[in-house]
Amino acid sequence: MKETPNSRSATPHRIVVLGAGYAGLAAAAFAAGRTKRRDDVQITLVNAGVRFTERLRLHMTATGQQLADLDLRELLADTGVELVCGWVTAVDADARTVRVDDRRTLSYDTLIYGLGSVADTTTVAGVEEHAYTLDSARDAQSFAAHLDRLETGTVVIGGSGLTGVEAATEIAEQYPGLAVVLVGRGVPGAHLSTGAQAYLHTVLDRLGVGIISGVEIVKVLPDAVALAGGDTVAADVVLWTSGVRVSPIAAAAGLTVDDHGRIVTDHALRSVSHPDVYAVGDAASIVQGYGPMHGTCQGGMPTGVHAAVSILRELKGKEPKPFRFGYIHIPLSLGRSDAVVQFTKPDDTPRRMYLTGRRAVWYKETVTSSPWPTFMRMTKYPWTTAFWPHGGRYTRRSDKEMASDATYSGR
Ligand SMILES: Cc1cc2nc3c(=O)[nH]c(=O)nc-3n(C[C@H](O)[C@H](O)[C@H](O)COP(=O)(O)OP(=O)(O)OC[C@H]3O[C@@H](n4cnc5c(N)ncnc54)[C@H](O)[C@@H]3O)c2cc1C
Repeated sequence: MKETPNSRSATPHRIVVLGAGYAGLAAAAFAAGRTKRRDDVQITLVNAGVRFTERLRLHMTATGQQLADLDLRELLADTGVELVCGWVTAVDADARTVRVDDRRTLSYDTLIYGLGSVADTTTVAGVEEHAYTLDSARDAQSFAAHLDRLETGTVVIGGSGLTGVEAATEIAEQYPGLAVVLVGRGVPGAHLSTGAQAYLHTVLDRLGVGIISGVEIVKVLPDAVALAGGDTVAADVVLWTSGVRVSPIAAAAGLTVDDHGRIVTDHALRSVSHPDVYAVGDAASIVQGYGPMHGTCQGGMPTGVHAAVSILRELKGKEPKPFRFGYIHIPLSLGRSDAVVQFTKPDDTPRRMYLTGRRAVWYKETVTSSPWPTFMRMTKYPWTTAFWPHGGRYTRRSDKEMASDATYSGR
């Protein structure tokens, strides 16, 4: 039973947020702003480092570009949020505790789980040993250092999804002496509209990016990638962007997870097995009227804000509202001087409208640079509200559907 804020209990309600990524930080910042002058809520944010990682720009870090230094301590100064810098090693969902660095235990009343995702390096042999990833600033910097050592040679990008395309174009632009090859199952930009896809391919062609699609990489070797069927593609360095996986911590904690290890949530983003755990961002399995959401910053930040709003509602004795989110765009950088922005329906299928060239570069930069000032505003101004597209009929679910996932299994 949660205490209401009005009861002014001696022990504050402890909210622990795991992960200061786009989703976790949105949750912590929003909750901090709204509870600024209250002493009945205590917020702790646990993150691997003291800096905010702009994942949306890691392909820039991977090509040696300097990003802004976004310090969580500055963001959270005077907010009352305790920042714990450390590695979460376990959650005990029954005892409501979190282990950090295997030596510190934090207790919570409500947990917001936002540990994100990383590239899946486990399903193809040799990826762990011979490929780089864009999982963290440090990983991207190691890759950049490798590129700097190459004067000529071939960079193979494993995976031709959006991250692969953004990385390939950035590398081709920054390192014109290197050959860049995108290798993957799908055609790059396959889910964009015909016009946007054609534009993307014109740019890939202009930048000299090679494309090998319709293939399966079965092994990464020290100097090549091996394809199903026996062919190999020579590589001086491999960047792996194919597939994502989440931390095993949620499953190990006994939280109900889906086939990918993401926490299964109810309509309000609470774990279906442990309703005192909210799951946000890439680590959450969230179903909308159009089907499961896929991991993006676009959808991740609203999940964080919704979790914060819902917890504050619960503390007032109110039921949280259902979470609804509809996509609006796919902004894709193609190096520093070109981009394509595909506008979408709420279910992420392409509309006819898209932007290219300078207007798209401006749009993409505006979107990419907006999270940090948004977090700042949330922490500073308690009256800040957050808007996101709710998706209309695309995201609507029947009471029956929502009731079925609100059945907390066994609790
Ligand atoms: C190169 C690249 C480009 C992208 N471009 C776009 C784009 O243009 N648009 C878009 O919408 N999405 C894009 N994405 C996807 C987007 O970055 C993710 O969907 C988003 O970051 C998910 O947010 P999150 O908060 O769930 O996780 P994250 O942002 O990954 O944050 C997770 C946080 O948890 C921390 N953490 C993880 N495990 C632990 C642990 N055990 N202990 C302590 N801390 C931990 C991490 O250090 C991190 O700070 C891109 C991704 C990449 C890699």
